[in-house]
Amino acid sequence: MKRPFVTLEQLQEIVKQYPTPFHLYDEKGIRETARGLYRAFSWNPGFKEYFAVKATPNPQILKLLREEGCGVDCSSLTELMMSQRCGFAGDEIMFSSNDTPAEEFQLAAELGATINLDDISHIDFLRNTIGYIPKKISCRYNPGGTFTLGESKEGFQVMDNPGEAKYGLTRPQMTQAFRRLKELGAEEFGIHAFLASNTISNEYYPALAAILFRTAVELKEETGCHITFINLSGGVGVPYRPDQPANDIAVIGEGVRRAYEEILVPAGMGDVSLCTELGRFMLAPHGHLVTQVLHEKRTYKDYIGVDACASNLMRPAIYGAYHHITVMGKEDLPCDHKYDVTGALCENSDKFAIDRMLPEIDIGDLLVIHDTGAHGHAMGYQYNGRLRSAEVLLCEDGSTRLIRRAETPEDYFATAIWE
Ligand SMILES: *Cc1c(COP(=O)(O)O)cnc(C)c1O
Repeated sequence: MKRPFVTLEQLQEIVKQYPTPFHLYDEKGIRETARGLYRAFSWNPGFKEYFAVKATPNPQILKLLREEGCGVDCSSLTELMMSQRCGFAGDEIMFSSNDTPAEEFQLAAELGATINLDDISHIDFLRNTIGYIPKKISCRYNPGGTFTLGESKEGFQVMDNPGEAKYGLTRPQMTQAFRRLKELGAEEFGIHAFLASNTISNEYYPALAAILFRTAVELKEETGCHITFINLSGGVGVPYRPDQPANDIAVIGEGVRRAYEEILVPAGMGDVSLCTELGRFMLAPHGHLVTQVLHEKRTYKDYIGVDACASNLMRPAIYGAYHHITVMGKEDLPCDHKYDVTGALCENSDKFAIDRMLPEIDIGDLLVIHDTGAHGHAMGYQYNGRLRSAEVLLCEDGSTRLIRRAETPEDYFATAIWE
């Protein structure tokens, strides 16, 4: 059963200060998750998490994660600029982009970020752009085909399709790229891969690690390059549904350690540092979209109209993603009413839930939409002139702090040419 990280009483106080809808983040939960990740990988001396900025691009969240030892994973110019303004520099920044414009490589190089190349042609593009090849460099590997884990009667635990993904270099290109980069002066090499998204399996990272570790051993033998870091990227997921089991990061860290000791250590590569670029796992459960019920409409179905919409959380509208909903103060009442929970966009996909069994809802009830801390506010847009909401941090001491104000019509009008 999913419980919100706030009580009705707390929330009633919070909404007096910040009008709904808004995203609320739980500082305590964020810090605990970061600490759990570092504990799970404490056996690897160089381990570092580079938080995927795109998941929750909020300066206060980034600074909080920096206090926990995290760096940032950027993939665009503005993410690099935001990270720079938050005080991240040099080894604290990973730049894992694709289809990269020249000015982004330029800024990444100026900041001393570790650049992770998405294609073999980007070697010359980077060199022509910045005039040299950095001493420390990484390449993104795409093994192609399909990636599956844990077959059972219910199907695969994890299934994804790297062969259809636009990212990364093929296996032969990895060898060619490392040789070329070495000729051009690179000294420290890294390998990155992202094979599956939102995995609910303690086996994903260990399986990915084994693939990357074997590839690293081969590449070292083929090219003589000194591989100093391996980047497991993102993809460790969260249970959006209440009946899904959660990943256990301690078990995941232990599984990766076993692969490290079986593959890298015997090859004389026990000095390789690991890193991760987790977004969803770090933040998703520690955000709630808080919204209030405005209307109930009964036609062919029973609709609950709330004051949030897909501008605040797009995942249900674009992927049909499940987000759990708690009707605050009614946590223990029977879920004996079937509702569609909708926003106000003139788009029929603007529904947070379809045919969801919930306790009887009254107008004015506060709803918490769970697991919106990653890829939530970040994916927001302004369609229909519905503007992006505020973001509020619930601090460890129980106080709250506005960490992004809501957009105003003036923000929306600011880019228009009026005359
Ligand atoms: C999106 C992304 C991540 C984060 O993915 P999560 O599923 O949020 O963990 C990490 N690395 C890269 C390159 C990404 O594009």
